[in-house]
Amino acid sequence: MEKFQVVIIGGGVGGLTLALRLAQSNVKVLVIERDKNPGKIYKGELLQPKSLLHFQEMGIADNVLKESLALPTIHTYEVKEDKNGTISDSMYIPLHYDRLETAFPEARMIPHEKLKEIIFKEAEKLENFHYWNPAVFKKFTKMDQKKKKFSKASVKYGEKEIDVEADFFVGAEGRASLMRKAMNQHLVTTQYNHHFLTVTFPRPANYTEARMYASHKSFIGLFPLPNNEVRCVMLIKPGEYNRMKKEGLHTFTDPFIQFEPELKDYVTQIASWKQIQLMIPIRHNIHEYVQGNAAIIGDAAHAVHPMAGEGMNLAIQDGANLGDLLAWMYENNQLHPKNLKKFERVRKKRSDRISMLSHFSALGYAWSFRWYQFGRMFALKRFERHPILHYKHMLNISGVGWWTYTPMDVLRFFGPASMYLKRRFKKRSKEAIFSESDDYPWRYKK
Ligand SMILES: Cc1cc2nc3c(=O)[nH]c(=O)nc-3n(C[C@H](O)[C@H](O)[C@H](O)COP(=O)(O)OP(=O)(O)OC[C@H]3O[C@@H](n4cnc5c(N)ncnc54)[C@H](O)[C@@H]3O)c2cc1C
Repeated sequence: MEKFQVVIIGGGVGGLTLALRLAQSNVKVLVIERDKNPGKIYKGELLQPKSLLHFQEMGIADNVLKESLALPTIHTYEVKEDKNGTISDSMYIPLHYDRLETAFPEARMIPHEKLKEIIFKEAEKLENFHYWNPAVFKKFTKMDQKKKKFSKASVKYGEKEIDVEADFFVGAEGRASLMRKAMNQHLVTTQYNHHFLTVTFPRPANYTEARMYASHKSFIGLFPLPNNEVRCVMLIKPGEYNRMKKEGLHTFTDPFIQFEPELKDYVTQIASWKQIQLMIPIRHNIHEYVQGNAAIIGDAAHAVHPMAGEGMNLAIQDGANLGDLLAWMYENNQLHPKNLKKFERVRKKRSDRISMLSHFSALGYAWSFRWYQFGRMFALKRFERHPILHYKHMLNISGVGWWTYTPMDVLRFFGPASMYLKRRFKKRSKEAIFSESDDYPWRYKK
């Protein structure tokens, strides 16, 4: 029998962030990770400003900045395309992170496994950090359903089956979560009418800006990574993947060449369909993140549509937040499991809102009609033009704060851009940023 204070199932980006935060506060933590080698499938690589703030608190921001590429602006283009695919016109809409008043007014691209390595290496230095790999969480062997207390779990570690005991268990095992099942959580799922193809390929050294191109029938996104690579995504209809594979690799590379001719010699370096990954977007939510002495974080609790680049960030922010709470509980001898609910009170509302924002961003590109594109162009132009609408959108997706949408926004949407008071905007935009007491209320209330 092995005993820990906190056991985390899953050493993805969420589980590792939580483990680092706990080990830094001298909490004895075990991470159980199933996969021996770094994952080969593509996962989230875009860091939002709030995640960077958490890394700063944990003392790893410098390493993250060194290994990532800054994207202060996302450049979006709405393109008019005729039947033959000839582009006749395009409308440019920049989305500015650099208008935000925060320590990191930018998104950043970092290879997913590199980010995990940075967090892991920092955690590894700490004596309270324990990592079993490859190890698989099997089931809880001792639990009191009535008191909702999970006491013992069975873990297959190498050839051995080991019972582990802990004060608290955290499920950070991604979309297919066993902890979620053990907690009997009903999953509310949304499926989408589109899929994505995604791959990373080389880029010119000076191709360092993120760009998204949409016409009435296509959508592609290009997000440069460090080391002269670019991660790309293409939206397709379900079933199209098989047709494209039959017709040849050019069906994938052509749209990139069409929208971004300077990448022709780079995108054509993709050698086979094996490199390209099919990604089926899904959104799921649950009612409770906490039950008794157990909690779930990251994709286990909420999978979001990838359009707004939020999945990985929600996992990091959950990990940082729950880590701070558990550290506080140990430091202040407040170990009653009811205190775990404080995590849910902070994070569920935020994750639900981001999940909704990601959902609406996805709907914006869900149908391939010309009139639908006109509607989207109108909306994007309005969002770009009005300082408050633009700021609200960027602040809300950044995770740094939340500025609620109001009926006034409808007037702003249809009215002139000059319709706002600069002084009031400054005051409100500051108030909308999460304070330390919003993020970590337990530090303030006993
Ligand atoms: C194909 C794909 C593409 C994506 N693209 C994007 C994107 O472009 N932008 C974005 O923001 N997000 C994207 N995401 C989402 C993002 O990667 C996730 O939101 C993020 O990785 C969630 O982190 P996590 O730590 O919660 O879960 P995960 O990263 O899934 O980590 C869970 C870990 O738990 C381990 N595990 C699972 N079960 C067990 C068990 N029983 N015992 C032990 N270990 C276990 C797994 O091996 C894994 O390492 C993508 C996800 C996928 C699957």
